[in-house]
Amino acid sequence: MRSCVVCRTRAPQQTLLRVVRTPDGMVRVDCGPHRAAGRGAYLCRAERCLRKAPRALNRALKVNVSEEFITALGQAVEQGECHEDERQ
Ligand SMILES: [Zn+2]
Repeated sequence: MRSCVVCRTRAPQQTLLRVVRTPDGMVRVDCGPHRAAGRGAYLCRAERCLRKAPRALNRALKVNVSEEFITALGQAVEQGECHEDERQ
């Protein structure tokens, strides 16, 4: 069980999105099958949590995640994709 960084709801890890800051400073969505290395934070797939995600991720991962990145993340979730990278 992991907690969403926005609403703190606990849910099984597979149902949450894992956003990871990789060792080389990229922020990406980790959708496996192998866990990406780096510091991770978990998010619900709910739109209300994605909307509040930038601030929560900045706090959790010590990065500045842009709203554009979160928008892209939301779209990726809807499309079942998970290959968004952002250079910090
Ligand atoms: Zn949430």
